[in-house]
Amino acid sequence: MIVFEHVDKTYANGYKALKDVSLSIEQGEFVAIIGLSGAGKSTLIRTINRMHDITAGKLTVDGVEVNSLRGKALQKFRRNIGMIFQSFNLVTRTTVIKNVLAAKVPELPLWRVIFGIFPEKDCLEALEALDKVGILDKAYTRVDQLSGGQQQRVALARTLAQNPGIILADEPVASLDPVTAKQVMQDFKRINQELKISVLINIHHVDLALQYADRVIGISGGKIVYDGSAESVTKDV
Ligand code: ADP
Ligand code: ADP
Repeated sequence: MIVFEHVDKTYANGYKALKDVSLSIEQGEFVAIIGLSGAGKSTLIRTINRMHDITAGKLTVDGVEVNSLRGKALQKFRRNIGMIFQSFNLVTRTTVIKNVLAAKVPELPLWRVIFGIFPEKDCLEALEALDKVGILDKAYTRVDQLSGGQQQRVALARTLAQNPGIILADEPVASLDPVTAKQVMQDFKRINQELKISVLINIHHVDLALQYADRVIGISGGKIVYDGSAESVTKDV
């Protein structure tokens, strides 16, 4: 469970990107965060895995105060949170399977990564993750030979290989065409339903948010301006 209590985020230059944010997200929810560019969506999501520190209020994940985590505890905490970006953040000049195996790197000795020698158990888990997002047949293809939608699935598989309890996705479909965007949203939905992973997606396509998410949080100027079920949004407009 993720709980924000009166959270502010002021950047080093004095810009207040989050203002008095209070909300809680239960394990297994599928939440879309919507808002215009610059509204604070990315800042909000990135406080959860502490890519950004909050500057006031309290943020807890499963009862642990995020700002109090240091060193190994912070590393372990972050392993439970998968992060997906608009730009996929893959190593494009190598194979899909090596990208997914990279999720295991913190547990593997460096020489294995350098020589590309991975334990069978990790390889099987990586293949299983690729299967879950429907691109098992691409395991030994180089990432730069895949379409944008396939690359985002690789990113999703890499995150799954980490066995996260939470997936944070920052505009994961923004650079995809409408058809591919829908397919990737379906992947998120399936993963959320089958694996009970909490999914928080920043998205500026309101229609996709309403179609796939269970709950929609609207943010504007760093403030939460809407929080309700996808159905209730449709009724309101
Ligand atoms: P934090 O306080 O969360 O550590 P910082 O204020 O130190 O964040 O900024 C982190 C990085 O983001 C810096 O490298 C900074 O240059 C960059 N940055 C600054 N302004 C902006 C902006 N308006 N949008 C996006 N990134 C920015
Ligand atoms: P969104 O994801 O909704 O587009 P962001 O969370 O990226 O919004 O940004 C919210 C506001 O905070 C924007 O005005 C942006 O310019 C500013 N901002 C983002 N990162 C930084 C930073 N590191 N330093 C200063 N300002 C930032």
